[in-house]
Amino acid sequence: MSIRENFARPAVLLNPAAGEPTDADSHIGGPVLWPIDEPWPWCEGDGHYDINVKSEGVRLPFVGALQLYRRDFPELPFPEGTDLLQVFLCTVHHIGVGGPDVRLVWRDSSTVVELVEEEPEPSVQEEIYVPTVNVLEPIRFTEYAHPYDRPEELEDEEWPETSAGTKIGGWTCWWQTGPATFTCPECGAEQRQTLSLGTREPSGEHVEWAFGRDGNLNVLTCEKDVRHPFHVHVD
Ligand SMILES: [Zn+2]
Ligand SMILES: [Zn+2]
Repeated sequence: MSIRENFARPAVLLNPAAGEPTDADSHIGGPVLWPIDEPWPWCEGDGHYDINVKSEGVRLPFVGALQLYRRDFPELPFPEGTDLLQVFLCTVHHIGVGGPDVRLVWRDSSTVVELVEEEPEPSVQEEIYVPTVNVLEPIRFTEYAHPYDRPEELEDEEWPETSAGTKIGGWTCWWQTGPATFTCPECGAEQRQTLSLGTREPSGEHVEWAFGRDGNLNVLTCEKDVRHPFHVHVD
């Protein structure tokens, strides 16, 4: 294996586009497959920090931001017995995160029989964290490490830029910060770039959410067990 190959990873640009997805589809901002007999995820509001809306201490329901089925995105590290990743955002500013808080739910979609009748709506939201509704037209590619993440001898290689679009896998697109490495607080393994929500899509069809200074919300998960605590890095 050449040293270059160590800095090439598979990535999938989700490439959102206007559409009308259902709970049976992979999508951004559409209806989520949530069983009627399972409590909806709520944020207790401890880390809320007011910017434009009064959110301090307000208990809020998480908002379904993204769901990805394994049949569409087999690249994701689905734990055994699951075939659906659901990503939820608490759509106000959190002081420890520098953006919305994140919940990941790994689910076996075949066990969901009856759906929740209505998804709860937060009483306040930061508009910039609320996704528009999109279907996904994924583009698969090999992504090369950002110059910050490369050893000195590869820093000057002319590789394509690390994508700042909404994507799974690949490398962190360092912007205002970086480089940084993160380790799993539970087992000490490396946490890897698994999902990135981008302010600016390469296609120009933006989700109309915004993170940091027109940057990305990166979710890094434990490479040993994706169910271990993950890290959210807004850059
Ligand atoms: Zn919250
Ligand atoms: Zn771990």
